[in-house]
Amino acid sequence: CGVFGIWGHPEAAQLTYYGLYALQHRGQESAGIASIDEMTMHSHRGMGLVTEVFGGDRLKGLRGHAAVGHVRYSTTGDSRLANAQPLVFSYHQGNMALAHNGNLVNAMTIRDRLERQGSIFQSTSDTEVVAHLIARGGYPTVIENVRDSMAMIKGGYAFVILVDDALIAMRDPQGLRPMALGRLGDAYVVASETCAFDTVGATFLRDVEPGEMIVITSEGLHTERFADASRKALCTFEYIYFARPDSDIDGYNVHMVRKHLGKILAREAPVEADVVIGVPDSSISAAIGFAEESHTPYEIGLIKNKYSGRTFIQPSQELRNLGVRLKLSAVRKIVDQKRVVMVDDSLVRGTTSARLVTLLREAGATEVHVRISSPPVKHSCFYGIDTSAREELIASQKSVDEIRDFIGADSLAFLTEDAMLSAFGVERGKPHGFCNACFTGLYPTEVYQTNKRALER
Ligand code: SF4
Ligand code: MG
Repeated sequence: CGVFGIWGHPEAAQLTYYGLYALQHRGQESAGIASIDEMTMHSHRGMGLVTEVFGGDRLKGLRGHAAVGHVRYSTTGDSRLANAQPLVFSYHQGNMALAHNGNLVNAMTIRDRLERQGSIFQSTSDTEVVAHLIARGGYPTVIENVRDSMAMIKGGYAFVILVDDALIAMRDPQGLRPMALGRLGDAYVVASETCAFDTVGATFLRDVEPGEMIVITSEGLHTERFADASRKALCTFEYIYFARPDSDIDGYNVHMVRKHLGKILAREAPVEADVVIGVPDSSISAAIGFAEESHTPYEIGLIKNKYSGRTFIQPSQELRNLGVRLKLSAVRKIVDQKRVVMVDDSLVRGTTSARLVTLLREAGATEVHVRISSPPVKHSCFYGIDTSAREELIASQKSVDEIRDFIGADSLAFLTEDAMLSAFGVERGKPHGFCNACFTGLYPTEVYQTNKRALER
C-alpha cells in the first residue's frame, strides 16, 4: 500500500490526490482520502485506481487544511470496500482517519482478545485493530493513546493518522515499511515514497526514522521515539521490486540500487550473449546495469502494455496467468536469431519467467539466459508485501536447476544474499540493517502462530 498526508495547506485533498497518483504503483485495489475542516471530517473511498475513485467532482467536498490518503493492495483482509482506507471514525476523543501501509503480525491475537471483550469489527483488515486500540485507550490525550497502541502492535507499518488538531506519522521500529517527511511552503507532507513529493512540488526533508512518531499541529512539528531503532531491518524488496525508481528510501536511490544489483549479477553470473533485455518496468534498471558491466548491448526486447496493472495485484491465479499474456510482448526484430540475456528483478512463482522464455523463443531467440537480480524467494513476507504462500514460491519447492528446467531457460542464475547486500555497501558477513526474510527465512520480528492468515500464506 501507499500512504500520504499533508497538514497546513488550503488544497490539502487535491494535493493528496496527486500524491496518491504518484504512489499508485503501491496498490491499485482501492483508494481513499479523508480531510479535516474545522472539526468536521470529510472522506471518500472507493475500489479501483485513484483517477477512477476520484473522478468527477469527488474531491470538491473534501475541504480543509489537512488530509490523509491511501492506495491499497491487500495482504491481510479481502479486496472489498469495507477494507478500503483511510479508516474513518469518530469516538469520545473526536474524529480520526487512519491509513496504514504494512502488515501487523499480532493483529489476530489482539483481535481475538478484543472480540472476547465485546468489540465488533466491520472489516477483515488488521488496521481496524489499531483503531480499536486507540479508541479504547485510557489516556486523556489522543497522542498518548496512539503511543500506547504502538507499544502493543508488532510488524511492518507506516501509519498516517489525521485527527481534529493534528497529523500523526509513524514508522515501525524496524523500519520495514518506508516513509519520508517533506515540506511544501508552510505545509508539511509525509509519504510512503519521495516520488510523491516530486509530484506535488514538495521538498524532501528526511526519512521518518524507524520507531519515530511525528506529530504535526498548527504549532509546528514535534517528534519523539516510541521504540528504539536498534534492530533496524529495512525491506530489501522495496528496492528490488516494489518502490518507484525515482524514489530515495533511507538514503539509497531505488534506480541506483537496482542498477548496481544488475552490475553485480553480471560479475557473478556472466554469460556470452548478443543482447541484454529487461522485463518492464521493474527490472529495466538492473538490465541496464547488467549490460553496462558485461559490455553487451542493452535493448528493448519486451514491451509492456502501459494500461495493464501489476500482474501480482490481481488476487486470483487465473487472472494472474492471463495478466502476463495481456501485459508483455516480444520485439521480434531485436531477439530474432539472437542469444538473449533476460534480466528480471525477482522470481516468485516462476510463471512470468516461464511465459517470457516461451515468448522470446517464439520470436526467434536462439538462446535465453535468465538472470534474476535478487536471491530466490523462499519464504512468505508477513510485513506487507504480497510474496504469496510458501507452497506457491517455486524456490521453496525446487532447486535452481529444476527451476531452470521449469521455465525452459538455457541458463538461470540468482544473486546471493551477500552479493545483494553489497549493492547497499554492506561488507560480506558484516551486520546490517536490512530485512531479507523472504530470501533467508530470518524474520526480524516474532511471527505469531495465531496469525492465521500469515500461516495460510
Ligand atoms: Fe521486505 Fe522480504 Fe522483509 Fe517482507 S520479508 S519486509 S518483502 S525483505
Ligand atoms: Mg517484473
